[in-house]
Amino acid sequence: MKRFDVVIIGAGSVGVPLSWQLAEKGLSVAVVDEEASWGRGQNRAAIGGVRATHSDAAKIRICLESIEIFSTLQSQHGFDVEWRPGGYLYVAYDAETEGQFRSLLEKQKAAGLNIDWVSPDTVARMAPGILMDKLRGGTFSPEDGYASPLMAGAPSTAWRLRRASPFSSIRASKGSARKGTGSPRFRWAMRNLPRASL
Ligand SMILES: Cc1cc2nc3c(=O)[nH]c(=O)nc-3n(C[C@H](O)[C@H](O)[C@H](O)COP(=O)(O)OP(=O)(O)OC[C@H]3O[C@@H](n4cnc5c(N)ncnc54)[C@H](O)[C@@H]3O)c2cc1C
Repeated sequence: MKRFDVVIIGAGSVGVPLSWQLAEKGLSVAVVDEEASWGRGQNRAAIGGVRATHSDAAKIRICLESIEIFSTLQSQHGFDVEWRPGGYLYVAYDAETEGQFRSLLEKQKAAGLNIDWVSPDTVARMAPGILMDKLRGGTFSPEDGYASPLMAGAPSTAWRLRRASPFSSIRASKGSARKGTGSPRFRWAMRNLPRASL
């Protein structure tokens, strides 16, 4: 019987990096997907924005960690995910929106986000051609950026794709899990070569 410490269903934005991190910690991991390769779900539709500019403190802190990970994937692990720091700009054209943005600033700063209010002239320099009529300025967070969602699966290129038998359910019993049968579709599995066997 094939055994893994962890089986992840879904080789997308969450499953692939999670499997990599678990494998880094020494666990044997299988990632199973109904598609022919990883990143064929929402991952391939994403435009790649990696931002910590949010209104919720917990989300800000988590996304600051994401920025740290994305921006150092190449220097620390050799994975070029086309990271580009470009910042994030939210603009306001009316007093109500400006008020909302300004009241968020304190909360965002308290959560550790580098963000501030910028004038209409600064906005115009950052985004040439932007509509200036009634522009009141905006918030700018310089450390947000962009990465290629497809390249973000780069750690999986160190793995080998293998076709797995149909995988439609998991039955748990006595501390272990077995695959069920009955799906007409093929699944694929990625395996971490040093530890797992499929
Ligand atoms: C148009 C668009 C733009 C976006 N832009 C951004 C952005 O700029 N920045 C950002 O952070 N987020 C963005 N997102 C959101 C982001 O893409 C998703 O939050 C993220 O991809 C979700 O990751 P996931 O692993 O949960 O799902 P997915 O990436 O969709 O992965 C799920 C995987 O599970 C597989 N699967 C599902 N069911 C089964 C099953 N029963 N058996 C086997 N395999 C299965 C699928 O085939 C798929 O590969 C965007 C999303 C869209 C649609």
